[in-house]
Amino acid sequence: GRVSGKKALITGAAGGLGEAMAFMLAREGATVAVSDIDGGRAAALADRINAEIPGAAFAYAHDVASEDDWTRVIEAVAADLGGLSVLVNNAGIGGPLALVEQDTVENWQRQYEINLRSIMLGAKYAMPHLRAAAPASIINISSIAGLAAAPGMGAYNATKAGVWMYTKTLALEAAKADWNVRCNSVHPVFIKTPILDPFIAMAGGDEAKAAERLARGIPLKRIGEPDDVAYCVLYLASDESKFVTGSEFKIDGGMTAQ
Ligand code: NAD
Repeated sequence: GRVSGKKALITGAAGGLGEAMAFMLAREGATVAVSDIDGGRAAALADRINAEIPGAAFAYAHDVASEDDWTRVIEAVAADLGGLSVLVNNAGIGGPLALVEQDTVENWQRQYEINLRSIMLGAKYAMPHLRAAAPASIINISSIAGLAAAPGMGAYNATKAGVWMYTKTLALEAAKADWNVRCNSVHPVFIKTPILDPFIAMAGGDEAKAAERLARGIPLKRIGEPDDVAYCVLYLASDESKFVTGSEFKIDGGMTAQ
């Protein structure tokens, strides 16, 4: 496999993009730790992966906003997998659409803790293990919303832009210190996962209509599938990307080329 021998932790992996990444990395030879704030759904996913590839997956209950959870989970993952060579910071949330005058401190605080501060905590506590297991890779899931703004999405735009820039800081720190740990960000456009449920609700519960509306601004005329993003993560997790660090990967059907 393309990532044989790699030991990967994927956060927010109980469903959506994280599930696709976990399956793909496991099928390509990695051992995967799937963590999620919903530990039950993470365990159910690990069971499904292990049914196909015995022993490939471990599950953890893990709130990425909690520093205590990070220290506990990283130690458990390193012990269970025998090290850690790939960290995918995937957990993230959207917020209610709110123009500035209706926006709230609570919304900003929640998105800051889950979307951005979590990236620092993950890198901080994983780095000693990643250095020990190098060549290693940190992959941060941002969004095209971290590169281009939209009205009503202030906290999401700001936190995802933070992920984009902080990824470069980490990449330069690791390069300067010769840790052999690369760090890159991935920027998806709309991908078919539960995070799009509010758009389906806006289309009166009609999923096809919601997808058609969301696809209107996309040159390739469709929204993405989770595997479209997982293939990029697979490349960045593998040593095929050994000369790539501090970079950003748009998985957006041409959206931001316009
Ligand atoms: P999703 O809602 O399907 O999955 C997110 C997962 O994160 C869920 O399993 C949820 O339980 C978990 N989670 C929520 N809060 C958490 C916390 N505090 N700690 C740990 N886990 C937590 O969403 P998705 O589409 O799979 O999103 C994955 C990532 O991709 C997110 O960072 C999201 O911002 C980003 N993204 C998604 C899209 C898209 O259209 N799907 C586009 C751009 C970026």
